[in-house]
Order: sequence, then C-alpha cells, then structure tokens
Amino acid sequence: MSKHNLTDIKEIRAVMGMFGKHFSKSLGQNFLINSGVIEDTVSGSGVTKDTNVLEIGPGIGTLTMALAERARKVVAVEIDTKLLPVLDYTLEDYDNVSIIHGDILKLDINELYNEHFKSGKAKVVANLPYYITTPIIMKLLEHRELFESITVMVQKEVAYRLAADEGSKDYSAVSIAVGYYAEPEIIVNVRPDDFCPPPKVHSAVIKLNIRENPPFTPEDEKFFFKLVKAGFAQRRKTFINSVSSGGISKADAAAALSEIGLDENIRAEKISPAQFCALSDILYKKSK
Ligand code: SAM
Repeated sequence: MSKHNLTDIKEIRAVMGMFGKHFSKSLGQNFLINSGVIEDTVSGSGVTKDTNVLEIGPGIGTLTMALAERARKVVAVEIDTKLLPVLDYTLEDYDNVSIIHGDILKLDINELYNEHFKSGKAKVVANLPYYITTPIIMKLLEHRELFESITVMVQKEVAYRLAADEGSKDYSAVSIAVGYYAEPEIIVNVRPDDFCPPPKVHSAVIKLNIRENPPFTPEDEKFFFKLVKAGFAQRRKTFINSVSSGGISKADAAAALSEIGLDENIRAEKISPAQFCALSDILYKKSK
C-alpha cells in the first residue's frame, strides 16, 4: 500500500506544487480522481499477479499505483519530462514499476517487450491522451501478437465507434478494423468530473480482447480494408457511389451487391463486416 492518495485533489496539487509542475493541456493531462473508476478499469482489464502491464501516459501515477498492486510488473511510458521526478516520488514504494521516458508513437514496442517482458502476452491498461487515441490503438493492434488485451480510457464517442455493430449510427471503418483484430467490450462510462482538471468531453473505458484469428478471412486483406475505407468515405451516399470515388466501377459494385443478395441502394453502415469481406473477395477477383 502506498502512503499517497492521488485521487485527492489537494494531494495532487501539493505533489505537483512540490515539483513545480502544471497540467499540460496539449499533452492531454487530465488525471483520474475517482477511485471507483480506477477500480472498474483495473478489475475490468483482468490484470492478475501473473500479468505484465504496459501503461501509456502514467501522469502522476494514479492508475499505475493501482496496477502495481495487482500486476506482476508495470512498464509505463510517459512523454512529459517534468512528470518523471513526480513519478519517482509517488511510486517510490513499488519495485515492480519501470517508467520509460518517451513518445509511445515513436517507441519500438518490440524492443520494449523484449527488454521488459520477454515472454507471455502482456496487457495494455491506460488512460490515453485523447489527441492521439486512434494512432495509439492502431499501433498497439499492429503489435497484437504481444498483447492479450488493450483496456483504455478514451473519449466516449470514440469508444462507442470502436465497439459499434452494423446498423448503429456509430458504425464506421474503424469499427470494422477493430472488430477484425479484437472483440471490443465497454467497461464503464466516465464523467468529466472524474478527472482533474475535468475534460470537455465524456469518456469511457473500452477493452479490446485480441482475437487469436480474424472472424473471417478476406482473400486480400489490403483490398478488404481499402474497400471498407472507400465504402465509408462518403457515408451519406450509397455504397456504390461511395466506392466509385475510390476507383471501383458502379457496375462492378452493383453486381457484387446483387451476388450476395444486397440492395443496390444500401449504405456502408448497413453492411456487416462479413458481407464487406464477401464483397471484397468478389471485387478483388475483378480487379486482377
Ligand atoms: N494515467 C494518468 C491518470 O489516469 O490520471 C494520466 C492520464 S492523462 C489522460 C494522459 C497522459 O499521457 C499524460 O500524463 C501525458 O503527459 C501522457 N502523454 C501524452 N502524450 C504522450 C505520448 N505521445 N507518449 C506517452 N505519453 C503521453
């Protein structure tokens, strides 16, 4: 147990004051102050004494501390130099935490894994800086063989977009990409006043359980993702019109829809990921 209570605003201000540190808006520094949300995040992530955890943006160490209590090891990557002495101080009681100074988008994740975790799948648990949510998640998914799950706090709209099924207003190209690699699960919704300072937006914690294998296998993965992107590029238009701007002829798109029994006026938001895969296989053959 630590002697620090980092969910107490007075203590946060005192610790920041000790090190002459101010909140940086541009680095997305909104620190958690609701211990219930921290508990829901850590227990939702499924971290146990056998788990190696990668945290992104430990801030002053609030979530890091809760993770260190339950995990085997926590490696936390923080970009802000001014937070390093703060973290040394707040996490002094934990010998299973390593802080790495760096930018998660520039860091070599394989190198980090080999140096700190070596074997077994790690779990990512983080309250992400919202200005780079999507690039971080995409980078982690590119290294999905190293991770069992990714549990992250993000802006609420983003969480619901990542987890959306076809037909919902949030369903988009990113929902299909995430669903291809992982099974998403919303853990908890979080209010602005659960942070200090409160952000302007609502938040949610989402867990992405990495799949062993994708739910379907497109003949050409690159073509599949290109088609998905083109299908949603102009989401108010029909699928045929939207993909035609991406270089697929309207006649080919119409024939592909008809071959799998879909209406030619359908929009991408009504097309399931598996149907996108079937359309991609038909159109890929024609493109060769
Ligand atoms: N984990 C803390 C908490 O929950 O109270 C702080 C979360 S705060 C929303 C985001 C943290 O990410 C900040 O500490 C910020 O400095 C850090 N950060 C911002 N950009 C980063 C980057 N590119 N790489 C690593 N950390 C970054």
